[in-house]
Amino acid sequence: SVVMASEKEAALAAIPFDSPTIFDKIISREIPHHVVYEDDKVLEFRDIRPQGPIHILVIPKVKDGLTGLSKESHIDILGRLLIVAKLVAKQEGLDDGFRIVINDGPQGCQAVYHIHVHVIGGRQMNWPPG
Ligand code: C5P
Repeated sequence: SVVMASEKEAALAAIPFDSPTIFDKIISREIPHHVVYEDDKVLEFRDIRPQGPIHILVIPKVKDGLTGLSKESHIDILGRLLIVAKLVAKQEGLDDGFRIVINDGPQGCQAVYHIHVHVIGGRQMNWPPG
């Protein structure tokens, strides 16, 4: 049987360097995924292991991490990710609120080294996160 690693195990096993990730294959449609929005700069798709009734990932088409996106020229794409995330939350009817998360690095529980904004909603959230 297939044993799926927990998100934390996947994060600790992830190799944070400049190699292709599964998200490249989602962008190129090599791997079919439930895409909910696409334009020339960003792609949004439903997370394969949703942590709530709604769980969407927003990614830029340029592959980099939060740490790498630190130039003046990256301000546009970083701003765009949040604007698009907020719009999809509205589109999904999350009028009572939602959670936006960016996991960065091993301690941040990042499993895929291509920046992605998690939009999670449809249930009451708790704080602190795990
Ligand atoms: O923030 P982190 O790197 O841990 O998140 C990666 C996310 O990508 C996970 O929520 C995981 O379920 C999702 N994923 C996906 N489709 C894949 C591989 C990972 O939706 N094929």
